[in-house]
Amino acid sequence: MAVAPDQQRRRLQGLEILQQAPPAPAAPLSDCLDSVSRQWRRDGGLAGLWQDWPAIAGDQLAPHCRPLSLRRGVLTIGASHPQWRQALQYNRLQLLAALKSKGHPVRDLRIQQHHSVNQARLESEANIWARHPSRTDVHGMGTCPSCGRPAPNGEIKLWTVCGFCHRQRLSS
Ligand SMILES: [Zn+2]
Repeated sequence: MAVAPDQQRRRLQGLEILQQAPPAPAAPLSDCLDSVSRQWRRDGGLAGLWQDWPAIAGDQLAPHCRPLSLRRGVLTIGASHPQWRQALQYNRLQLLAALKSKGHPVRDLRIQQHHSVNQARLESEANIWARHPSRTDVHGMGTCPSCGRPAPNGEIKLWTVCGFCHRQRLSS
């Protein structure tokens, strides 16, 4: 192999000099470890909280709210519905007492509405069912003007005939 021209060797030397740049100061590393351990402690606290949560919040509240974050002693709790957010507000002092008695370092509570995607979907499904034309308990029963059979009023209102006649119309 031919010896590299002078120009190229100078470039290589330049690279070596770059590699030998002074190592990063030690402070950022210890900061990093600090924040990792802070994070660990924080998550550990929240994991413990998750475990104790049903006992702390009680059977009624626990399924409708959950601890979201714990920062500097302030526990943020998400509630699935305004009604449950209000219930949490009312039970704030009892919750704080229960948290302290379980040894959780919580000095204040922040309560906020928290929608998970699933909950939003379930709520919209519940809404659809509440308005569903086949609900006779909502819309009552009537008689289909086409076939004369008893049919849910909601269906007749929506399609002018019962669901069976409507399907028949669609398929013919
Ligand atoms: Zn009909």
